[in-house]
Amino acid sequence: MNPRVLVVGSINMDLIARCKQAPREGETIHGEAFHTAPGGKGANQAVACARLGAATRMVGRVGGDEFGRSLRLGLAENGVDVEHVGVDRETSSGVAVILLEETGRNRIIVISGANWRVGDEEVRAARDLLSQADVVLMQFELPLAVVKAVAEAARESEVLSVLDAGAATPAAVEMGLPGLVDVISPNETEAETLTGVDIHGLPEARRAAEVLREMGAGEVVLKLGEQGAYWLGPEGEGHFAAFPVEPVDTTAAGDAFTGCLSVALAGGAAMGEAIARANAAGALACLTLGAQPSMPTAAAVDAFLQAHGRQS
Ligand code: ADP
Repeated sequence: MNPRVLVVGSINMDLIARCKQAPREGETIHGEAFHTAPGGKGANQAVACARLGAATRMVGRVGGDEFGRSLRLGLAENGVDVEHVGVDRETSSGVAVILLEETGRNRIIVISGANWRVGDEEVRAARDLLSQADVVLMQFELPLAVVKAVAEAARESEVLSVLDAGAATPAAVEMGLPGLVDVISPNETEAETLTGVDIHGLPEARRAAEVLREMGAGEVVLKLGEQGAYWLGPEGEGHFAAFPVEPVDTTAAGDAFTGCLSVALAGGAAMGEAIARANAAGALACLTLGAQPSMPTAAAVDAFLQAHGRQS
């Protein structure tokens, strides 16, 4: 049976305006191009899991607008079960307004919209669905009380929980969230926010992982960009070097990584094997432009691992 993943998370539409230089206060400029792209870490990771062959359900909320319709449809077209993605007619869908300058520099305003109204209804739905899941995958882009309630429910139901620490804040630590999950997987910046350790290399990565373990996290899997990943758990630790690639766009490499890690663990893989697969998925995501379009399939990950002399 395919692994079953429940994602409780954010769904956004990215609105990307490309321009030579962002306007100054009071200035109106002509930009170069505009496009929209589905995003939100929850939705990106749900698409990653579905492409990797997991039976993937998403719990979340969109607004009663055109973006909401299109985001829900896009998830369904990628094979994600959206029955529990609610439409909230009283608010707008989550959006990220992105001004992207020619130099690659950006300015971003995220308006959480419907994501921030995720609450008791979604917690109830997630609780009911846990019995049909091998893993529940969460991020910090929803109200933290929701993340906490779902993590606690997963623990009660003995369902494996994975927390991608995207959008980490000190408040998440104050609420004890790292201590409620089986696996926490932050990137370097998120690990710094959660632990206060500045990561410049593997020694600090290890220290940050220790701090997260001291907070009660089960397994810690740090995403270290072109350095790959570092794992610290009760039964072992290790550095997993990244696969050598020439990145085209690293957007959502972390989402591909955590999605793949979750699917592999849900399928019964050992941690080392799961991290090797996740490193491959992250590397593959760097080779295609955009977030959701760059999520690899299970076949692509298998072929990549084989091409790099690794068994899949
Ligand atoms: P995020 O996208 O959350 O910032 P990272 O940049 O750490 O996360 O990337 C996530 C994962 O993607 C890494 O752990 C690694 O497996 C892979 N990855 C990212 N950048 C590269 C790169 N330049 N070369 C190879 N793999 C990469």
